[in-house]
Amino acid sequence: MGRDWDRDRKELTDKLQGWGYLTSPTVRDAFLGVPRERFVPEDVRRSAYDDVPLPIGFGQTISAPSMIAIMLEEAALLRGESVLEIGTGCGYNAALLAEIVGPDRVVSIERLPELADLGRANLAACGYRVEVVIGDGTKGHASRAPYDCVIATAGAPRIPKPWMEQTKVGGRIIAPIGRSRLNQTLVTARKTSDSKWEYKEGTPCAFVPLIGSEGWRD
Ligand code: SAM
Repeated sequence: MGRDWDRDRKELTDKLQGWGYLTSPTVRDAFLGVPRERFVPEDVRRSAYDDVPLPIGFGQTISAPSMIAIMLEEAALLRGESVLEIGTGCGYNAALLAEIVGPDRVVSIERLPELADLGRANLAACGYRVEVVIGDGTKGHASRAPYDCVIATAGAPRIPKPWMEQTKVGGRIIAPIGRSRLNQTLVTARKTSDSKWEYKEGTPCAFVPLIGSEGWRD
């Protein structure tokens, strides 16, 4: 008999809730809705529902589910809001975002063409309408701005200016920010007026580096 992925997904979701990472019904439902086993590479599929980061090829990783849950709860997204994700990777987080805000509300940008292709293919195969763009996400994506939320899944030395310019008043940026390439603090920045921001520092984290003109050098 094959593995019961639905049971594994439910068990992990229950654990994430029990541990206090999942706190809202919206994010919990998204975790129950997205088949993580269809996004991760075949050689690590058996670990799809372990709470660990997994390699997705090209030296990149997908974050542990608990870290993703923390970010999505922090984003406090509403249905219909527009989201720019930086770092498509395998497309799993973009699928969660699409579950929450709905079809055609998420654009995700990835600098590595091979991963953009992988993410795009995984999202389409699972029926998610997300636009995947190849490019340097440190510049944001002006053509669909402004966004209610910019969410970065790679670690930056500071919040890139274009993200701030492309966020609506009332919107937020969720990003791992740190002075080292591999260790960061999760930062939430809220745009309270055209010129004012409120910042909150959250959990320590370890994302792959954000590489680009307003990020780290290659
Ligand atoms: N969200 C992804 C997922 O669900 O699989 C995980 C992304 S992985 C932690 C970070 C990704 O950010 C990598 O795929 C990496 O290539 C990408 N990245 C790094 N710098 C970038 C940049 N300047 N613009 C766009 N993507 C970038």
